Amino acid sequence: MKFIHSDICMLCDEPGGTIPNLCEACSRELPAVREPCIACGASTPTHVDLCGACANRYPPVDRTICAVAYASPVDYLIGRLKFHRDLRVVPTLAGLLQRAIASEPDVDWLVPVPITPARLRERGFNQALEIAQYLSKDRGMRITRSVHRRNRSEPPQSSLTNSAARRANVAGAFEARAVLEGHVAIVDDVVTTGATVNALARCLKSAGATRVDVWAVARTP
Ligand SMILES: [Zn+2]
Ligand SMILES: [Zn+2]
Repeated sequence: MKFIHSDICMLCDEPGGTIPNLCEACSRELPAVREPCIACGASTPTHVDLCGACANRYPPVDRTICAVAYASPVDYLIGRLKFHRDLRVVPTLAGLLQRAIASEPDVDWLVPVPITPARLRERGFNQALEIAQYLSKDRGMRITRSVHRRNRSEPPQSSLTNSAARRANVAGAFEARAVLEGHVAIVDDVVTTGATVNALARCLKSAGATRVDVWAVARTP
């Protein structure tokens, strides 16, 4: 699958490069997560594989890979997609993630983080599914749509600042309607505290998944 390349970088208007809609200079300068924890993708103190929280208690997610850090100008790009429906951003985010997972083995299933039907109606698309579709076309990995998000009046995760509140908010939020065996990768745009992907990983493991990784475009620092 070849992405449709625009000739113009969305950040500086220079000619585009390898990542769709970004020039080489802008894509090289995107912020990276420093010394990421292999389990949750958060930045760690230097030269350790696991952050303090994951060393203390390994999360249900086995491994997390995030392409970039959620900082300027990545927050701007993701905001263009989420709040302005600028769909040019989809191949850009997918291209960044595709590059980050290039040396990862194929998984049996891609699981885009589901959104509620109400949110889908309001937004018109699920950004995680849009990104997963690019990865699926590129590598031939299958997407499962058998995992659902329960439609209840939960406040959006972005409105909750503390991690205990976020964890409580998403516990039991997901439901798998089919058996899912093998190695699964959850696909998302931004991982913040990890509460959402951990709740989803727990659901996938109860549905039969033996290993659950997270492939996300961005991680909050
Ligand atoms: Zn540029
Ligand atoms: Zn960690």
